[in-house]
Amino acid sequence: MKALITGGAGFIGSHLCDLLLAKGHEVICVDNLVTGNKNNIIHIENEKFSFIEHNVTKPLYLEEKIDYIFHLASPASPIDYLELPIQTLKVGALGTHNMLGLAREKNARFLLASTSEVYGDPLVNPQSEEYWGNVNPIGPRGVYDEAKRFAEAITMAYHRYHGTQTRIVRIFNTYGPRMRLNDGRVVPNFIGQALNGEDITVYGDGSQTRSFCYVSDEIEGIYRLMMSDYTNPMNVGNPEEHTILEFAKYIIKLTGTDSKIIFKELPEDDPKQRRPNITKARKILKWEPKVSLEQGLRNTIQYFKGVLDSGK
Ligand code: NAD
Ligand code: UDP
Repeated sequence: MKALITGGAGFIGSHLCDLLLAKGHEVICVDNLVTGNKNNIIHIENEKFSFIEHNVTKPLYLEEKIDYIFHLASPASPIDYLELPIQTLKVGALGTHNMLGLAREKNARFLLASTSEVYGDPLVNPQSEEYWGNVNPIGPRGVYDEAKRFAEAITMAYHRYHGTQTRIVRIFNTYGPRMRLNDGRVVPNFIGQALNGEDITVYGDGSQTRSFCYVSDEIEGIYRLMMSDYTNPMNVGNPEEHTILEFAKYIIKLTGTDSKIIFKELPEDDPKQRRPNITKARKILKWEPKVSLEQGLRNTIQYFKGVLDSGK
């Protein structure tokens, strides 16, 4: 089977390329490298793999048959989408429209990489798929949240109106090797600061919570969802919830650093709590995360040590 992955040179997308190739699929990776990097796919030496540099906000015409489209293209870190607000809105809206058009043309199955951010600053915890969310459309995070909410809406419209086979995964905070050290998200920030002996920057008082899923677990859930016949949105994430302050202390412990914690201003609209209800994924996909936070973080720390040592 042939799969196309948009955003395939990014963090999650590159791991998905590896997984699909390992399962014997042909893979076309499409990426404009705005936040991704060819280094993430440089290790792939497989004749079933090809790369197309392309911005998916423009239409993509391909001759070959395609069976699956995994649409992951989008800036994903708050720093990235604050720097790229228009591109973020365009890739969520126009990019998703173009890739749904390609799926329809090829009679391919389409999976949208959505996000826990569709729940905004949630008023219920944990978040189940039935919760409609609490999003500020005009706040700084609105460009990402509303783009993904539009993307979910147009995906369901193609499903209902055109009969396109669609899947929607709501990804919760995922971490692991190949994140960019400077992408501003909490995992690379804290590990980078700890390894460099710099202060660890906790935003606000650190009482806000997140639930961290290791990337190998996340992509297995995404793959299972694509292969299932479930068409409504599905949460895929790790339900183990931690405050950011606890998380900072844990990184200090695992790295053995002398770094101190300092407190900085909480970004606007930063969600106070986030934890997925994964009842559906457990029941329908027979999926749940397997990698412990300790193991996942040890692997990630090892990876970032390598990046820092090589000076890349
Ligand atoms: P990433 O920035 O590493 O990957 C995104 C990739 O998309 C990059 O390679 C980038 O160059 C590419 N891209 C962006 N705009 C594009 C365009 N117009 N045309 C072609 N390629 C484009 O981020 P990631 O963490 O790997 O996120 C991947 C997907 O998963 C995103 O859709 C993101 O919204 C979603 N997601 C990620 C997380 C997470 O915790 N990592 C959480 C929720 C949702
Ligand atoms: N955060 C922090 N210090 C940092 C980076 C992030 O305290 O150096 C906090 C951030 O305010 C948020 C949480 O960590 O509450 C997760 O942030 P991230 O950018 O990783 O992703 P988000 O879940 O907010 O999309």
